[in-house]
Amino acid sequence: CGIIGVLGNHEVAPLLVESLKRLEYRGYDSAGIATVNEGRLDRRRAVGKLVNLSDLLVHEPLAGKAGIGHTRWATHGAATTVNAHPHRSGPVAVVHNGIIENFRELRAELARAGIAPETQTDTETVALMTRLFIDRGLSVREAAVATLQKLEGAFALLWLFEGEDDLMIAARKGSPLAIGHGEGEMFVGSDAIALSPFTDRITYLAEGDYAFVSRAGVEIFDAGGRRANRDETRIDLSS
Ligand code: GLU
Repeated sequence: CGIIGVLGNHEVAPLLVESLKRLEYRGYDSAGIATVNEGRLDRRRAVGKLVNLSDLLVHEPLAGKAGIGHTRWATHGAATTVNAHPHRSGPVAVVHNGIIENFRELRAELARAGIAPETQTDTETVALMTRLFIDRGLSVREAAVATLQKLEGAFALLWLFEGEDDLMIAARKGSPLAIGHGEGEMFVGSDAIALSPFTDRITYLAEGDYAFVSRAGVEIFDAGGRRANRDETRIDLSS
């Protein structure tokens, strides 16, 4: 029910958890984070309160300066660790708010390619489909966009990739998503509250937009794949 992503200059795990705490007000049943550390993608997930995720991270820390995080409000699949986000397939990790309405059709298409889901979620199909496109030779950017074009429903999505510690791909359709601008750091979040620990400079994605985010900045594209300019606004964090 909440999304955060950070391309930072410090360890991101504590930042992701801090931001997820700000998103607690939306409600959630489980939470998780994924990071890229020296190219390696890894994740930690826990059912229940965020303190369960923090406790897990004490015993099994997650290093890295690039990461994504999620609080889940289950719509498809019970509130279990396996169903918690980030979902992963090979080099792909993804967090998602909303519903992928056509996930059954996507599953059928994946089955024809010999790929079986390991979770009960609609979200996992996004990770599996992105990986399939990468396996077929697409770049990670092409694979995410090709996957996006297959999705029906209302969603906010954020991808992170093994071997890519300076890239997040964000997309919104029906659910809000905001880009946060830092000094040599960049952020993605469900709302300004999620981004408030990091920056007051925010660009809201418009309906149907997707974005390639790196520490140097963000490239935004509209639903038709054309480069789009979206205004940067300053949020008043004092109130
Ligand atoms: N439909 C997804 C799931 O059940 C995402 C739910 C959410 O928005 O947190 O895992």
